[in-house]
Amino acid sequence: MDYTRLITILIPAYNESASLPKLHSALSELADKLDKYRWEFLIVNDGSSDNTAETLEKLRSTDSRISYINLSRNFGKEAAMLAGMDHAQGDAVVIMDADLQHPVSAIPRMIAEWEKGYDDVYGKRLSRGKEPWLRKKFSMLYYSLLQRNTKINILPNVGDFRLLDRKCLEAMKSIRETQRYTKGLFCWIGFKKCPVEYETNDRENGVSSFRFSNLLGLAMEGITGFTTSPLRIASVIGFIVSAIAFIYLIIVIAKTLFFGEPVQGYPTLLCVILILGGCQLLTIGIIGEYIGRIFNETKHRMPYIVMDYKSSRFDKKTDFTGDPQ
Ligand code: UDP
Ligand code: MG
Repeated sequence: MDYTRLITILIPAYNESASLPKLHSALSELADKLDKYRWEFLIVNDGSSDNTAETLEKLRSTDSRISYINLSRNFGKEAAMLAGMDHAQGDAVVIMDADLQHPVSAIPRMIAEWEKGYDDVYGKRLSRGKEPWLRKKFSMLYYSLLQRNTKINILPNVGDFRLLDRKCLEAMKSIRETQRYTKGLFCWIGFKKCPVEYETNDRENGVSSFRFSNLLGLAMEGITGFTTSPLRIASVIGFIVSAIAFIYLIIVIAKTLFFGEPVQGYPTLLCVILILGGCQLLTIGIIGEYIGRIFNETKHRMPYIVMDYKSSRFDKKTDFTGDPQ
């Protein structure tokens, strides 16, 4: 008895009606070539305001491998990916962007590694493509900070483009954090990992929906989701300031006792008050970030809402001819 394994290509899409037909033709070419697997193309329409929904309906009427989810509004890429993971039927899932930045040509190499027994085959960008210099520098600095402060190894230059075995998928699905930093979670779950290198293409249509503020938000998510070390800043600053204050106290007493200096030090006083005030606000802000996270998690709201879901139309009874092992 032979079981044809199913590979799901999971694509979160937000306003991607222009790219989706192109991506679909590239994918169906690949699927036709690799016909020893069954394929599902699962597209999650993340509340697009263009006609992505109509495009999907049209594509699905021509290709029975397509399934899609329309979310009730824009929930963001992280939530869209989770929605896709929850609905993916494959034995392996390949997550990729809709904007053709992730090369379809890397997928066969990923599958080859999966066949060798790796559970999480992640795409590693060789270059970051056309990106502003400052953004590249910030990203480097951010990753080195994150590396140093978290116990898990969050890999730089590794995005969401990857192949996950069903085992990893189940692990990812069982993490129900509402504020997700998926990139970190992939590393957190562990399993046997293997890189596949790829060159990023430039975006075909439209512009990236991740502006600097979005990235900053995501960066905060990464830090607050994976390390509590910023909370320690308050104690460290407090310790250093107290030590300095103690030394200064001795100097002031000594001066008064031995030299009898008159009362002075208005500028010193002002500086100290301002510096301390700044440190206090900073640390309150950091604590606030964590409290905000606790607040959001305790609400236990679902991370996304499905408006409608159309499954792919392969006949499970006739396709499934044996044991998945
Ligand atoms: N995306 C999404 N929801 C959003 C924003 C983006 O599903 O709110 C999708 C988008 O359609 C694309 C992928 O996430 O398939 C990556 O988005 P984008 O290309 O804008 O980001 P970048 O390539 O700059 O990381
Ligand atoms: Mg992109």
